[in-house]
Amino acid sequence: MKYVLLVHGGAGAINRKMISSKGEEVYLNGLQSALRKGGKILEKGGSALDTVEKAVIDLENNPIFNAGKGSVLTHDGEVELDASIMNGKDRQAGAVCGLRNITNPISVARCVLQESEHVLLSAKGALRFANAMGFEQVTDGYFFTEERKTQLEKALKTDRVFLDHDSDEKYGTVGAVALDLEGNLAAATSTGGLTNKKWGRVGDSPLIGAGTWADNRSCAVSCTGYGEAFIRCLSAYEVGARILLGGSSLEKAGDAAIHQSIEELGATGGLIAVDRLGNYHLPFNSGGMFRGVLVKGREPEVHIF
Ligand code: ASP
Repeated sequence: MKYVLLVHGGAGAINRKMISSKGEEVYLNGLQSALRKGGKILEKGGSALDTVEKAVIDLENNPIFNAGKGSVLTHDGEVELDASIMNGKDRQAGAVCGLRNITNPISVARCVLQESEHVLLSAKGALRFANAMGFEQVTDGYFFTEERKTQLEKALKTDRVFLDHDSDEKYGTVGAVALDLEGNLAAATSTGGLTNKKWGRVGDSPLIGAGTWADNRSCAVSCTGYGEAFIRCLSAYEVGARILLGGSSLEKAGDAAIHQSIEELGATGGLIAVDRLGNYHLPFNSGGMFRGVLVKGREPEVHIF
């Protein structure tokens, strides 16, 4: 029996100069840490669902990534969080969008999956649900970093909305997919979205089928990139559908979703995907994608370019 855990910390026009201020090490260590946390669960025979939640919590707590602490700021200088999680065994799913003041939105999404009769809760309602479930509410200050403020100021000057990695500071949306020892798949994605987003904008990350998908019959997928394009392509589901309905291999399905569908819309991004046999693929068409791979019995691998 084999287990696999893949994580990502976002995709974008990343180049070495852009990440030199912090050093590549900082990002690679962040990915390694998430692999370790999730890997411990898989090693003990834990579920893929627990694993992806744990890995994403670790990435949300790390301020270098655009999720949880350190999320990018909206046009109004606020933090609005999107997250989703899906279990491949029964296709149960939970998600939140526009959630504020909760440190780990992925755990609220997990609670939506487990404790509510719904799939997606938004903004104030999502916060009320989180409160009712006993999640601690933190102040806005918890999320803010100086870099995010500078990033927003720059975006406001040019009136641009941008993907985290296409700005000067390189952090990113986070995600994880896993295959556990029982052969079950799961996927999770969490993000602060796009810098300078307005009007309650919601990206692909909290949308099941767009940013996140898990189905034991095909694969588990977490996406990152220009959310609007991933919504229009239903990218995460597209990978699964190409396998389940089209008989495609995981690699061909992942490549088609990024290099055909997303590219046809002139957008950039990437995804991480694993299937039930433990095949995995991490395609992207951007300058880089922060990513890590852990396979039972092998050394973990982390890459940016
Ligand atoms: N896909 C995310 C969004 O559009 C952004 C990202 O992946 O960095 O909200």
